[in-house]
Amino acid sequence: MNKDLTIIDTMEGLFSKERFVYIETFGCQMNENDTTRMVGLLKALNYKTVDEPHRADLILINTCSIREKAEHKVYSSAGRFKRYKRKNPELVIGISGCVAQQEGERLIKRLPYIDLVFGPHNIHRLKTFLADIYLKRQKVVSTDLYDTIDDGEYVATPIEGIKAFVSIMRGCNNFCSYCIVPYTRGREVSRPSKEIIEEIKEYAGKGVKEVTLLGQNVNSYGMSGGDVSFTGLLRMVCGIDGIERVRFVTSHPKDISDSLIYLFGEEDKLCRSIHLPLQSGSNRILERMKRVYSVEDYLSRVSLLRRLYPDMSITTDIIVGFPGETEDDFKETMEVVRTVRFDGIFSFKYSPRPMTLASTFKDQVPEDIKQRRLEELQRLQKDITAEKNRSLVGRTMEVLVEGRSKQDASELTGRTTCNRIVNFPGSPELVGKMVGVFITHGYSNSLRGIYKERSRLCS
Ligand code: SF4
Repeated sequence: MNKDLTIIDTMEGLFSKERFVYIETFGCQMNENDTTRMVGLLKALNYKTVDEPHRADLILINTCSIREKAEHKVYSSAGRFKRYKRKNPELVIGISGCVAQQEGERLIKRLPYIDLVFGPHNIHRLKTFLADIYLKRQKVVSTDLYDTIDDGEYVATPIEGIKAFVSIMRGCNNFCSYCIVPYTRGREVSRPSKEIIEEIKEYAGKGVKEVTLLGQNVNSYGMSGGDVSFTGLLRMVCGIDGIERVRFVTSHPKDISDSLIYLFGEEDKLCRSIHLPLQSGSNRILERMKRVYSVEDYLSRVSLLRRLYPDMSITTDIIVGFPGETEDDFKETMEVVRTVRFDGIFSFKYSPRPMTLASTFKDQVPEDIKQRRLEELQRLQKDITAEKNRSLVGRTMEVLVEGRSKQDASELTGRTTCNRIVNFPGSPELVGKMVGVFITHGYSNSLRGIYKERSRLCS
């Protein structure tokens, strides 16, 4: 008998049994998207997702190593699941994502109850990994990085709801001095535009209305392996019937082109919001971070965006306490925040990451100073966001209704084109529709309003 066929038969038999998977996800939207891909792959192998880890046959922890704190969470999570393994020796526990990539074999040595470790480039091999664990009774570690994307590596995944996130590329070539991503997610490579468009068309056919294109630096899409520029890709996505809103994340300020900025005025479906990580308002620190733009460059991009689109939402990332950051450097950051008046900030204390240049810098900032600067920055931004949200009271805004509000099931929740959350009383039949909402309240994280009318864009 053909030996390969026997293995395939055994694999088919193996996955004919219904099993349950519990997945815990840390980190960025790329990781959330990787989890969605895993759920899709596992569904095809007869796995159902569960919310209680004690019911699972397979527990996966999809990890993030961008900050030390995120990395520590992995170990405490894994520790929590160890007891389930004692009760059920057949339970498979796996670690994926950036910590898996960074630590590889070391994870199995440190946590001997772990069966599977795989990095972000190896997600599509999940079936083979599980077969090896079940049939050969061996642990699996797979952390190879690849310069190309395999056919079928990214495919449409089962989507619930009206929003989909689509990876258009992976990796990064920038090597900012604090960042571990180029080491854990490899060099930048773009997916072919045809494949991306097919995936989005499939989502549109299933009722998806809003799509977010994902990449570490979407502005350089097409420079490594793609066939069109990022603006070319956005035009193609905006042309897909059924898709009403298009977003993207993340942009690098050094790569955001005039053509992209002008595209916001040409494509109605392109949402008026952009995430543009500043990281620091001090040129001296930006240079040490190897960000390759100055504060002046950044402000000129912001000023063009605001001049063309006064309502545009601009959000950012800021790191406080980068090695060598003085009080004056920090004041410069605060000044830029006051000048730009961001719509939102993701702010973090610097933490040294293995393999990165900045982790070798001697002038690390003490923890208490980092904490104080973080609190000051967050206080300032909280006031700015609340003021901006209050300024919208009295306006009718177009909202894409996403579902019932988590806080109050009798209410609906959705987002404006500038990505603000809006809660309002309304009938469930409005879910998936573009509606007008009259804003009555502006809070620090959301808006509240009254349903006014079906928008002219309503389907
Ligand atoms: S652009 Fe810089 S911060 Fe962003 S993923 Fe690449 S190396 Fe990291």
